[in-house]
Amino acid sequence: MLLDTLNELVEYGKAHLGLEDLDDIYARNTLLMILGFDEPSYKAVDVEHIKSLSRPDELVEKLTKELVEEGKADSSNVHLLIDELIGVVSYKPQEFLRKFNEIKLSKGTDAALDFFYDYQIKNNYVAKSAIDKNIVWEDTSHRYKMEISINLSKPEKSNADILKAKLEKSTAYPKCLLCEENLGYWGSLKKAPRRTIRYVPCKLGGEDWFLQYSPYGYYYEHAICINRKHADMSINHGTFTKLLDFLDEFPGFFVGSNADLPIVGGSILSHEHYQGGRHLLPVFSSKEGKTYVHEEFKDVRVSHLKWYNSTIKLASKNKESIAKLACRFLDEWRKYDDESVGVISNDNNGLHNTITPCSRKEGEEYALYLILRNNRCDEVNPEGIFHAHKEYHNIKKEGIGLIEAMGLFILPARLKRQMGTIEEILSGKVTSSEVLSSQEDMGVHKDMINSLVSKYGTKNTLEESKDIVTKYIGDTCEHILENTAVFKENEAGEEAFDRFMKKVGF
Ligand SMILES: [Zn+2]
Repeated sequence: MLLDTLNELVEYGKAHLGLEDLDDIYARNTLLMILGFDEPSYKAVDVEHIKSLSRPDELVEKLTKELVEEGKADSSNVHLLIDELIGVVSYKPQEFLRKFNEIKLSKGTDAALDFFYDYQIKNNYVAKSAIDKNIVWEDTSHRYKMEISINLSKPEKSNADILKAKLEKSTAYPKCLLCEENLGYWGSLKKAPRRTIRYVPCKLGGEDWFLQYSPYGYYYEHAICINRKHADMSINHGTFTKLLDFLDEFPGFFVGSNADLPIVGGSILSHEHYQGGRHLLPVFSSKEGKTYVHEEFKDVRVSHLKWYNSTIKLASKNKESIAKLACRFLDEWRKYDDESVGVISNDNNGLHNTITPCSRKEGEEYALYLILRNNRCDEVNPEGIFHAHKEYHNIKKEGIGLIEAMGLFILPARLKRQMGTIEEILSGKVTSSEVLSSQEDMGVHKDMINSLVSKYGTKNTLEESKDIVTKYIGDTCEHILENTAVFKENEAGEEAFDRFMKKVGF
């Protein structure tokens, strides 16, 4: 029963969340008070079992069931109450920070970040078990490596939704999902509760920011670094300094910013934030292609990266030089036009050129990656010329932000079921006409189905069908990345790239 489980929760706090002597008595009373009980259960807890738990799942499951059964919550809001209860047995924000700094001093920043991540898994803020359900694979069958993931834990957003969110006036509290006031926020049916989230403050470019983890991360130790002020996403001169400063604060992590325009930007444009983490994104394994030297910045190695979209890599031990040179790139790119390749920097619909930057430490050097972006639309491609073209929207139609532009695709959950159905068609278990007439949402895949059936027939084994579909998805992701390239990987594109480099002073 619930009262017994509360004792287990206190024991869990002691074993895994740093709950100390005296604080445990205080926490138990807080739990009883929140739930309106007069006294605790006196039944003994299986301490060894609680100690052996590596994740909170078992306790959360039990609490979910018992809180509903005993009338303390209903199925729609029980997650809010659970977050509150686990928050009670977790470190308070400053206690947590003291612990983080203690580990940082004795064992280094990486160890402190590992502790941070593990703590957020153990106190149920990072939904590690949900993340582990995502389908993830590495695609090495194309000219550059990609990573593809079918995200089974998060809903998808269209560009229209993202734009609407940006235009909508922020009046509610907290102003947005990223605002610092979320620390300890109790949540609602529309907004996620944040009683269990913890932050680590940092200084970027002289400004106050903080680091938190993403509850449904896309890769290992997926962190988000957030401005303490609710200010719009912006790619400006200060961005490069802040990204490079981040590397001094957290040298084992990469960090990058989504662009500041819709279609080529991320899902939240209303609050300045960066994505980071310990993961090695595919773009980081790309080779440096043609190199360039700038007379004023001889200490920076500049190269055109061997990568699907137009990426420039700046590398140097001197981060001030990198930042200054990056500003030159930004200033030139913002106003750069080359109609021969469809690049128009500004028209009646506003500004179109921006940059998706990302940085990390590579040995002793700082490396800054600049992906040139343009979000212009025309009649042929009303959703974006340098965006996933229409024929690929059945796989991915959302904006191609930082993570994907760097080679890690996050595909929508619906694909798991839909790809399974296509595999059944290819192995003759159902016919395409049966599927298309009975399953409305398979209509978007009609062209894909027809082309795969005419190429491979319907007598494949399930295994073969799976390979065919997986290859199709890989091909599509490659094409989408090629779509995002402002300068294509062909002769005309390379020449256009060089013309731009000349403009920057190379
Ligand atoms: Zn905000």
